[in-house]
Amino acid sequence: MRHILHALMKWQYLIIFTFLFSCAVNPVSGERELMLVSEEQEVSIGKNASPSLKWEFGGSYEDRALETYLGTIVKDLWKNSERPNLPVEFHIQNTSLPNAFALPGYVAITRGLLSEMENEAQFAAVMGHEIGHVMARHTAKRISRMQLQQVGIAIGAAALQGSKGGDALLAVGAAGSSLLLLKYDRDQEIQSDRLGVKYMSALGYDPHEALSAHKVLEKSVDNYIKKLGKSREEDSFVSNLLSTHPRAEVRLSEIQDMINQLPPYTIKGDGKFGNRFQTETKKINEINKIYHVYDKAEQDYRDKKYGEAEKGLQEAIKLNGSQAPFYNLLGFIKLQQKNYEEADKAFGRALAVSPGFQPSIYGRGLSYLYKGSYENAILEFKKSLDEFPGHAQSHYGLGKSYYHINKYSEAIPYLANFAQAMPEHPEIHGLLGICLDKTNDQKSAVIEYKNQLQVAPDTELGRHARKRLEALEPALKVK
Ligand SMILES: [Zn+2]
Repeated sequence: MRHILHALMKWQYLIIFTFLFSCAVNPVSGERELMLVSEEQEVSIGKNASPSLKWEFGGSYEDRALETYLGTIVKDLWKNSERPNLPVEFHIQNTSLPNAFALPGYVAITRGLLSEMENEAQFAAVMGHEIGHVMARHTAKRISRMQLQQVGIAIGAAALQGSKGGDALLAVGAAGSSLLLLKYDRDQEIQSDRLGVKYMSALGYDPHEALSAHKVLEKSVDNYIKKLGKSREEDSFVSNLLSTHPRAEVRLSEIQDMINQLPPYTIKGDGKFGNRFQTETKKINEINKIYHVYDKAEQDYRDKKYGEAEKGLQEAIKLNGSQAPFYNLLGFIKLQQKNYEEADKAFGRALAVSPGFQPSIYGRGLSYLYKGSYENAILEFKKSLDEFPGHAQSHYGLGKSYYHINKYSEAIPYLANFAQAMPEHPEIHGLLGICLDKTNDQKSAVIEYKNQLQVAPDTELGRHARKRLEALEPALKVK
C-alpha cells in the first residue's frame, strides 16, 4: 500500500516513542530543544508528502533547462546551509498561485511567483528563506505538532475547499490546504529571513535584493487576487497565504537590520544577475501569460459557465497546444455535460502531452465510473493514487467503484479516507455505513448511519440509514 495516510500513521507511533527520549541540538541555533521528529523521520516525511504536494500545486512545470538553471542556484544555497547532507530536489510548480515552499528533499516555487521575479538574487532570497525553514527545523516542528494521520488526506483534500457535496468529484484546480503543513509563526519567519540573507550573501548575491523580493511577493499576491476578482479579506485561502508571509514595512526594516548585521561578504558582479535571469525565464513568462486565459476559464468552470470556459480554453490551446491542464479542464467540462466520448478524447490529449498527468488519469477514472464501467474505473483510480497518494477524490472514486461491484471490504478503507477528508459530503457516510453493514461490522455501521442522518437525512441514503438504524440499534443493545 502506498497510502501516505498509512505511512504517516506508522510514523505517529514512532513519534510517540521518540517523544519520551529525544532532545536534540537545533542545527541553526545550537541550542538544545525538545525534538519530536528525528532527522531520518524528517527526510521520510518529506519523501512521503512530496508527491501529494507536487500535485496539489498543479504538478511540475516541465522545462528541463529552466529547472536545471534554477535548481543549481537552489542546490548552492542548500550546500551553504547548516544541514547540506539533507536530500534536495528542485521543482517548478505549474500554478499561477504565487508561492514557494521547502521540505527536506523537495523545494519548489510556483510558475506564478517565478514569473514576477526580476533577477537571480530575488529568487535566491525567496528560496533561501524557504530553505531556512527546513534547516531551522521549523518544518519538522510544524509536522510533529499536527495530528499526523490527517496530513496525507488533508493535502489531497485542498481542491475540495468551498465545493459543496456532490460537486466534490468534479472539482478542479490547486488550492493548498498543505498550508496547514507549512504555516509558521512570526519568530520562525524572522529566523528564516535571517538565514535567507545569510545564504544568499554567502553565494555573492546582494542581500538587499531580499527587500525587493518581498515587494515582488506582495505585488504578485495582489495581482493574483485582483485577477480572481476577490479582496484579501474575503478569500480565506488568500488570507492564509498572506499570514504565512506577514506583510508590512516592519518586516522590511527588520530585514535591513539583518543585512547590516551580516558577517563580511563579497558581492559578485552586480550582485543581481538580472540579464541572465530574464533570458532564462523569458519562455515561462510568456507561457504564464497564456495561463491567465486558462485561469479565467478555470474560474468560469467553478462558476458553472461551461460555454465561456470552453471558449477560453480553445483560445489558450490556440496560443499553446502543449499544456496538459488546458485539455484536462476541457475534459472536465465534457464530464459535466455528460459527453463522455469528448471527455475521454480531451484526457487522452492531456496524457499525450504529459504522460502521467494525474488530473487526467483521475478524469478517465471518473468517465468510466459515470459510464458504469467499474473495473476500468478501478484501474484508473489506482493509477491516479500511485501518482498522488493523498488525492481525496480518487479515494472516493475507487471506494465507490468497489461498492458498485459489491466488493465492500475493498471499498471501506478508501471511503473511510474520503470521509475523513470531507466529513460533510452528502453520501459518503451512508455508503460507508452500507459497506460496514454488509461486512458484518454493525457497530461501525451504526456510527456511519448516524453521521449520514446528521449530514443529509432527507436523501435516499438518509432514509436507508434511518431504516437500518431502527433495525440495528435494538439488536446491538441486546448484545
Ligand atoms: Zn516563511
